[in-house]
Order: sequence, then C-alpha cells, then structure tokens
Amino acid sequence: MDEDDCMVSIAKFYLDFTVEESCGKCAPCRIGNKRLNEMLEKICEGKGTMHDLDLLRNLSHVVKDTSLCGLGQTSPNPVLSTMDNFMDEYLAHVVDHKCPSGQCKALLQYVIEAENCVGCTACARNCPVNAIAGERKGVHVIDQETCIKCGACLEKCKFNAVFIK
Ligand code: SF4
Ligand code: SF4
Repeated sequence: MDEDDCMVSIAKFYLDFTVEESCGKCAPCRIGNKRLNEMLEKICEGKGTMHDLDLLRNLSHVVKDTSLCGLGQTSPNPVLSTMDNFMDEYLAHVVDHKCPSGQCKALLQYVIEAENCVGCTACARNCPVNAIAGERKGVHVIDQETCIKCGACLEKCKFNAVFIK
C-alpha cells in the first residue's frame, strides 16, 4: 500500500470480509460489524459527519471487547489502526468531502480544463450519459449532476484536457 490507497476504503475492505464471514452467533459481531461497515460506506460517499467518527471509534471498541470469538475481537482493528494513523484521511472525507488518494468514486469530479480543450468532441461522443456539452472547436463542459464517473472522457481525450479533481 502507498499514497494511492485510501485508508478509509482499506478499512472498509476488511469490514466487508468480516461481515461476510461472521457466523452470527453473537450480536456485537453480527450487528456491530454491519453498522461499522455502513458508517465506513457513508464516509466513503462523502456523507459522514464528525459524530460518525466518534461512533465509529466507540463501536469499534465495543465490538472488540464484547464479541465471542477472535473474528469479532479483531475485526475493528483495521478501523482503529487507520483512524489512529491516518485520521487526516478520515477528516478529508468528512470535512472536505475529498478522497486524497482519489479512490472513493463518489468524491471524484471529472473536469475539463478550458485552456487545453480544443473542442474535438471525442469526450462528448463517448460519454454514456450525455453529460458533456460543447460545440465543435469550442470548450466542452461536464455536467456534474449527470456524470456517473465512468472515466471514458479522461480515456478518450488526447489533449490532456480532462482531469480528476
Ligand atoms: S476530448 Fe478533450 S479536447 Fe476534445 S472536446 Fe473533450 S475535453 Fe475537449
Ligand atoms: S466520467 Fe463518464 S459520465 Fe462523466 S462526463 Fe466523463 S464520460 Fe461522461
């Protein structure tokens, strides 16, 4: 792992596994891990709050302390250790609604740099949801509400006009 990995997504990756693997015998693991996973998902979508960060840490300790077996007793470790060591990344998601590593799709924005756009129309022709407007030889613009963040425009633009913000 390096700076191109999102630590919130990494914590979620491990929670996805735990939720899948929990035998369900004890409530902290069966329900607690699901709630942890939901909170991580909310944060990855840029909808998390500072209160969620408190809840995430508190519930992680409850699940660790009260689960019956080693699965639940260790499942919150990725959450706690990423929070301890990479809180700046959690704060970037919650406060700035940004994913520093660009991994959380919901937080990305595809944008066209007007200075580089020559109006070749390649992006607009390849956009699956017609989110890009612009005349031939004119500057093109992406409608952020319509964009589904597929990345096709970035791939098709030969003039380095599309970038991820
Ligand atoms: S593909 Fe690039 S240069 Fe062509 S219209 Fe789109 S953004 Fe502009
Ligand atoms: S990322 Fe995909 S959906 Fe969004 S503007 Fe580019 S081509 Fe269209």
